[in-house]
Amino acid sequence: MVLLGVLAFVPVGVRLYSLMVRDYHYYTGLARNNQSRTTPVTADRGDILDRNMNILATNVSVENVYLDPHELKQAGEDIPAIASFLGQILEKDPVWIEEQAADRRLRYKQVGTRIEETTAARIRDYINEHEISGIHLEPSARRVYPFGTLAAQTIGFTNVSLEGSEGVEAAYDRFLAGSRGKVITTKGNNELDMPYSYENYTADRPGCDVILTLDTVVQQCLEKQMEAAIARYDVQNGAFGLVMNCKTGEILAMATLGSYDPNRYLELQDPGAQAAAEQLKQSYLALPEGSEAYKAGKAAYSEAVTAARLKQWRNRVLSDGYEPGSTFKVMTMAAALDCGAIDLDTHFYCSGAEQIPGRAQRLHCWRSAGHGAEQTPQALQNSCNIAFAHIALKLGGEKFYEYVKKFGILEKTGIDLAGESKGIFFDKSLVTDTDKWGTASLTSGSFGQTFKITPLQLVRAIASVVNGGNLLEPYIVSEILDAEGNTVLKQEPTVLRQTVSKETSDTMRTLIRSVVTEGTAKNAAVAGFSVGGKTGTSEKIDVFDENGQRVQDKIVSFVGIAPMEDPEYIVLVALDTPSRQTGIYISGGVMAAPTVGAVMADILPYLGVERTFSPEEAAGQILILEDLTGLTAADAQRQLKQLGLTAESIGTGDTVTAQIPAPGQSVPGGSQILLYLGEELQERSVTIPDFTDMNRAQAEEAAGKLGLYILPAGNPEISPQNTVISQNIPKETQVPVGTTVTLTFLDPLAKD
Ligand SMILES: [Zn+2]
Repeated sequence: MVLLGVLAFVPVGVRLYSLMVRDYHYYTGLARNNQSRTTPVTADRGDILDRNMNILATNVSVENVYLDPHELKQAGEDIPAIASFLGQILEKDPVWIEEQAADRRLRYKQVGTRIEETTAARIRDYINEHEISGIHLEPSARRVYPFGTLAAQTIGFTNVSLEGSEGVEAAYDRFLAGSRGKVITTKGNNELDMPYSYENYTADRPGCDVILTLDTVVQQCLEKQMEAAIARYDVQNGAFGLVMNCKTGEILAMATLGSYDPNRYLELQDPGAQAAAEQLKQSYLALPEGSEAYKAGKAAYSEAVTAARLKQWRNRVLSDGYEPGSTFKVMTMAAALDCGAIDLDTHFYCSGAEQIPGRAQRLHCWRSAGHGAEQTPQALQNSCNIAFAHIALKLGGEKFYEYVKKFGILEKTGIDLAGESKGIFFDKSLVTDTDKWGTASLTSGSFGQTFKITPLQLVRAIASVVNGGNLLEPYIVSEILDAEGNTVLKQEPTVLRQTVSKETSDTMRTLIRSVVTEGTAKNAAVAGFSVGGKTGTSEKIDVFDENGQRVQDKIVSFVGIAPMEDPEYIVLVALDTPSRQTGIYISGGVMAAPTVGAVMADILPYLGVERTFSPEEAAGQILILEDLTGLTAADAQRQLKQLGLTAESIGTGDTVTAQIPAPGQSVPGGSQILLYLGEELQERSVTIPDFTDMNRAQAEEAAGKLGLYILPAGNPEISPQNTVISQNIPKETQVPVGTTVTLTFLDPLAKD
């Protein structure tokens, strides 16, 4: 009996040995897995700030909702009721939530990701009210972009896992992200901490703050004027623009329109793209579900949505090459002057068209009547293609290519953002081996045609022409600070090489200034500031219609610089495909130059550039309005009187709340300024005068006195011979003060 008794316990002993000794670690592991919960602790992602420490990207607290199916089961909760409640509040299918609750392999089934605090509070109330075990909330973070669409392509966004996907968010992800930690705790049933619980904590290192060179105010001014131009000229394919410091390479603003909202980066922002996607969606939804046609339609829809997203996320300033057109003539002329191929007195003659040696086709100047006899300054002022073809021939292919290389056209600029491309330039032999290839590439290249560069490459090349010859490496991040505020990284201006001599740069500054005072860019003039620049109108070289015919779509652009005596800021605006329907002549001089002028008028006073007045301005014939809002009515009237302006007060109140014309507008001396007092702008009507046969100055004076604005169409050059031939609002119509009247001026000369 004893022996039998002992033998009977042998298997028990063996089993105990295997459980407690041999497989100890295996079973402890299982137990731990069952009892412990790993809670990821997201490192606080760093903020992105502008140069004045305005927050462009930050985190807000949100919560995740998860179910513990095991706990739900043990507590015997009413799963269908819970699924119905959560389904409604989280906008999820209740059936799917029931499936999650039934899956007891894991004790963590997330059903709601990054929900707002208000929603979380409602769930918490529900849990308390019904005393439910098994629904849990945990803190999480969501990325927010307080300025919405502003500078979206530059700032970028983070994906669902809070990893940087585009722009600064992607380029500086390793600094912004920090390192994630986790807490492992032991939990018993009902989430109570178990006795003898262990806790394992991996410390997390918060992300660094990234400070940009970007200035939110400058960015807003740039985008506002670009949007106005898109509306005014019915621009079909968006616009891109850039403001850079000429001396340092700091980017103050960088914009691509149409934009998107990084808070909702998956949503299509462009109404056209939205409508196209919606149409594709409706057409496949109408088909029998599961059929081949349905699947194909659905695939076409997702493809269209993906393509539209990629397009709206794209930063065209550095990712896309375009034909720079005449803006490139700045580099050609600087190169020719720098190496002595021409001087300021070199003569040219433009008859409108000419057979250039080595070119199969006759070369036409944009002005078919020709520019007649010109010297070097007029060649640039008139943007004369014939003169530039001769400059290119004098310069020669070897020198041309050598300078193009110096200007950084063959390389990326090295900006600290992802996705930069370097455009497409000719093979060297195409411009140097003119015996074999003729002179077509050399001459077309000299006026910026038949090759592509990025807007950023163009802007930094022109900056080097005016800043004394320094080719800079542009940058967007100035400093990175860790969580304690210590500097982790600081970027300083980098000069890569000398492009042209200081003397050439001095000469070019005078010439570029004269394009605005004498040439094709008079519309970029800003009273009180010495603005210079170069216009450009280029055809898109690779757009074809359905019949394979090249579409004559145009990109019009202007690169402006101020102040010309000692350049500080360079501004590019390019409008992609202005509509032919507006009746406005499509050119950089007519469309892009005034847009850049308006940007300059906004940003230069803000950036502290001093005004210097022309004799007319100094004599009080043209005045720039100060901001009078916030002043008392008496103070504002006194200030206007000192300037020789009259004031009319509208409304009751003591403080000026608005003024017409707006601050920064230039008005003729003696104009009447309307001061609005009290809470709201009050409507007041005026009678539209007959503008026929007035020139621009006369029309502006007449309009200014009445509180009307003028939108010039046709040829808006401010010269006495251009007079109004029509107005969009008939004379004697009653309109509210501040109405814009479109005036079409006679257009004897087309401008490049
Ligand atoms: Zn010409």
